Amino acid sequence: MHPRNPYDGPLDFVKLGEAYEPLKMHLKLDPSSGRASIDFKDEEAQRRLTEAIMLRDFDIRLNIPENRLCPPVPNRMNYVLWIQDIVHAHQTQQSRHIRGIDIGTGANVIYPFIACKLEPTWEFFATELDDESYASACKNVASNSLQDRIHVRKASQDGLILFVLDEVSGNFEFTMCNPPFYGSAEEIAQSAEQKELPPNAACTGADIEMIYSDGGEAGFVCKMVAESEKFQTRCKWYTSMLGKMSSVPTVVKCFRERSISNYAITEFVQGQTRRWAVAWSYIDNHLPDSIARIPSIPNKHVLYPYMPPKNTLIQTFPGATTAQLHDTFQHVLEPMAGVSAVRAPSTENGDMPHFLVEAQENTWSRSARRNHKRRGQPPRDAVEPVVDTAPADSNSPGLTCSCRVYDGAASDGQPTAAGVEFQWVYGKDRRLFEGFVGHVSRKIVAALRI
Ligand code: SAH
Repeated sequence: MHPRNPYDGPLDFVKLGEAYEPLKMHLKLDPSSGRASIDFKDEEAQRRLTEAIMLRDFDIRLNIPENRLCPPVPNRMNYVLWIQDIVHAHQTQQSRHIRGIDIGTGANVIYPFIACKLEPTWEFFATELDDESYASACKNVASNSLQDRIHVRKASQDGLILFVLDEVSGNFEFTMCNPPFYGSAEEIAQSAEQKELPPNAACTGADIEMIYSDGGEAGFVCKMVAESEKFQTRCKWYTSMLGKMSSVPTVVKCFRERSISNYAITEFVQGQTRRWAVAWSYIDNHLPDSIARIPSIPNKHVLYPYMPPKNTLIQTFPGATTAQLHDTFQHVLEPMAGVSAVRAPSTENGDMPHFLVEAQENTWSRSARRNHKRRGQPPRDAVEPVVDTAPADSNSPGLTCSCRVYDGAASDGQPTAAGVEFQWVYGKDRRLFEGFVGHVSRKIVAALRI
């Protein structure tokens, strides 16, 4: 479950029934626990439950049609919160007005409704292929007076999945999608036998909602990946949910075939249910590992080889104090030609300050210095001192890296050594980032020894 997901405990059905009368008649007292609940096999009860949560917690009055998918809100929250993490990771003052696209929004427009309530400045284009779901989506948006923030668009079977990027000008921050899960009706029958439920069906959906005959969900996402090549940076992050673990390697292979190296994978665990989401991008901004990789994934895990390379590198320095490290780090950076460091404002949680380090190119390695010497030039730029102000708008440095000294108080109670966390924020060249981390770490070790 996403750490900010508020549905982390059992739902209080009695309170929900008080907030939404139509749920009341479905409430049943469970004699073993003494608590009220609903019969989760009863599709009507599930629809009333989703309507109750949307009304009480998001002030959205939903009308969930009978023969279409009924989204469970706690599970849908996880994906919206991850999208929020991605957007906030790169949000600047100028980019407050965020535009996203929800592909296959369904009859209930669930993702845009949740996201627009969490984020008052976000705007959505929501696409839908199925006529009935499309009509219902339009009605739900209108009855909540959100037409100026959620624009429902009809998709066509042989058009692009990402057609909004063709039809609407300007840039988008993200796309999101809960794709049709199955490849065929037979697959639905098979998974019903094995009692394997798709991610998007609390209730059974119509075939058109659940089947993509060209490879099920992995096929659908790979088609989006192929289409995204045309639109490149028009959208910062293309993302999708995946309901089957086996789809993750298929999609990652698709990234690798197309040399898409900036991508992210996460996992959502909600009760008994495990789901995944992927994101990919053509921009040179990088996400921290806490967003881009499944946290603490063991290297024996089947998905481990498919994880994106690490953007957060941690170097520990046993025996050093944080104050020592802080000073040493600044002393190591000062003589590095062409490297500037600004101290970012301190955070509220009392962490040591971050340094935002920028470099145009590798000026520090032995070979770089040799080359400069041979050409008879000094390394680019004079030494820039560490200053106390926030950075001005940069004109695309080769590398931006956020560095933070931390005190080694580990979350699992085991104290570790103090260290420096290097976060790759921006740049095309991974070797420049890794080379910088290696160089600075070696210099810190040497300086500490002295
Ligand atoms: N987002 C909703 C519905 C997901 S089900 C939820 O999470 O509950 C997948 C949806 O995608 C269905 O509503 C289906 O009709 C729609 N769909 C399938 N192919 C599509 C396409 N090419 N473009 C837009 N929507 C599509």
